[in-house]
Amino acid sequence: MKALIKKFPEKGIWLDEAPEPRCGTNDVKVRITHSAICGTDLHIFSWDEWAKRNLKLPLIIGHEFCGVIEEIGPGVKHYVVGQRVSGEGHINCGYCRNCRAGKSHICHKTIGIGIHRNGSFAEYLIMPESNIFPVDDKIPSEIAAFFDPFGNATHSSLSHNIIGEDVLITGAGPIGIMAVAICNFVGARNIVITDINDYRLKLAKSMGATKTVNITKNSVSTFYDELGINQGFDIGLEMSGNPLAFNNMLENMYHGGKIALLGLLPHSTTINWDNIIFKGLEIKGIYGREMYETWYKMVQLLKSGLDISKILTHTLPIDNFEEAFNIIESGNCGKIVLEW
Ligand code: NAD
Ligand code: ZN
Repeated sequence: MKALIKKFPEKGIWLDEAPEPRCGTNDVKVRITHSAICGTDLHIFSWDEWAKRNLKLPLIIGHEFCGVIEEIGPGVKHYVVGQRVSGEGHINCGYCRNCRAGKSHICHKTIGIGIHRNGSFAEYLIMPESNIFPVDDKIPSEIAAFFDPFGNATHSSLSHNIIGEDVLITGAGPIGIMAVAICNFVGARNIVITDINDYRLKLAKSMGATKTVNITKNSVSTFYDELGINQGFDIGLEMSGNPLAFNNMLENMYHGGKIALLGLLPHSTTINWDNIIFKGLEIKGIYGREMYETWYKMVQLLKSGLDISKILTHTLPIDNFEEAFNIIESGNCGKIVLEW
């Protein structure tokens, strides 16, 4: 089969032939129709320090997908051949304390497809039945292809009660922008989002941000009067992974505020702890999606009218994968979907 393979420990990704994976007893074999590219794939493409530490090569990368079931193992009970599906890329142990408590998103043995085992940038993908998620008839495949990051945005946004609250989102990447749409849909009061990229801020505005702030030109507090914000924000969603952005958020939080921390900050990040202690802030780390409550909420939000379609800015055939990675590298895009 055709697959996008990280073959060599250097910048790049290679479209090549790979053996077709075999379906185990409780596995589902998916014929991929749509693949979306994640920031993580860009780290792997660029071969940065994180990628060097975490990957064993060669590896088929990718974890955002939609496809059609091609084959099921003899133990599979809930799916049939021909069904349209996406899937949860975090495969957990099913037996640790958290898994057995129904909190498998914080399983300490989680492994990720496209990182620790072969992923979905391929004609076929094998997944345990428990990780498969059926795609509702009303949801287009190119949207279902990025349920994974939409799930990150949903998990973060719905972690705290945002109704009527002032929300600050740092980082207008695809996840930050989808969080804007969710907060707007659910009923937040002000949704302010920061970035350093005007293309992305414009997209965030079109998806419901009350105010977009390019922090290289303005500070967030400049807009407090205009927005009727008294002392700061009630809810913070950190979605940049940038230490300056996180510090900026801590400065702008109101006492008693709550933060969902999704962005992957460098180990060297330093903060002013006074902002957390004396303001009594609560910070919750967000990893992936709750299994499978976040998936349920995503579908219900879309079926109730949440529109995230504008985040999909580019659709390209798989053979144009290099162009797709170049666009992502430029930053001037939302989600990019590759068609198989
Ligand atoms: P992305 O890299 O596309 O977006 C990050 C955005 O932050 C970019 O638009 C960038 O311009 C912006 N930014 C950089 N410096 C900034 C600053 N000082 N202030 C404000 N914005 C700034 O990433 P994404 O795919 O949208 O993901 C968001 C973050 O979440 C990333 O850090 C990613 O690694 C992380 N992530 C975490 C999980 C998890 O499970 N915790 C899952 C997926 C992604
Ligand atoms: Zn577990």
